[in-house]
Amino acid sequence: MKYKRILLKLSGEALMGSRQYGIDPERLSEYAKDIKEITDLGVEVAIVIGGGNIFRGVAGAMAGMDRVQGDHMGMLATVINGLALQNALEDAGMKTRLQTAIKINEVAEPFIRRKAMSHLRKGRVVIFGGGTGNPYFTTDSAAVLRAIEIEADVILKGTRVDGIYTADPEKDVNAVKFDHITFDDVLKKGLKVMDTTAFTLSQENKLPIIVFDMNKKGNLMKVVSGENIGTKVNI
Ligand code: UDP
Repeated sequence: MKYKRILLKLSGEALMGSRQYGIDPERLSEYAKDIKEITDLGVEVAIVIGGGNIFRGVAGAMAGMDRVQGDHMGMLATVINGLALQNALEDAGMKTRLQTAIKINEVAEPFIRRKAMSHLRKGRVVIFGGGTGNPYFTTDSAAVLRAIEIEADVILKGTRVDGIYTADPEKDVNAVKFDHITFDDVLKKGLKVMDTTAFTLSQENKLPIIVFDMNKKGNLMKVVSGENIGTKVNI
């Protein structure tokens, strides 16, 4: 395996499957099978989960809600997703821990870096919920932050497109996919990989990002074993 310890970022929307809202249990169980394959080979897996399938603070603010209040709701949404994911992973036979950036001690451990790393060494999948614990941030920023903290080798951003393109492939038929691209070129070309805060944090810490299609069975294994699918962003 090319990567020993990975941080997988899954958006909340990824959990919807073909639904318009909420969580699709079948989608979750497909993800769980893919994750099991790589943990069976000894890859240490940490996951940051989004909440956009349930609530986004920005959407609340646009509808007149206090932004911070909305962001708190968004962070709690990621905890709901984290619990659902934890359940699916355990059903598939993995040992897991859910750690949250906002304390909810009855349902999950608080985020403690040393504990998280110890769980990973013991082969437990660690899910990080609650984003960074701060309003005005995103779970992409949480993914980069946690990846750096736990010394992950790479961030794997599982999306429904298979990489980074010259233009949006869902809108432009002439869009061409990059196999590799540097952080500088992403910025120069104005491409969107993550929000600016998350992207800069990754660049400054020389943490590579691989964007790939997580919905295609077996792709996670391919990425982790070093196959050149998706797009790799590095320095
Ligand atoms: N959020 C936040 N701080 C964080 C991470 C998330 O306030 O550190 C809130 C924010 O309202 C965001 C929501 O949680 O809209 C869901 O996270 P995100 O939009 O990143 O989820 P994704 O797009 O990955 O599903």
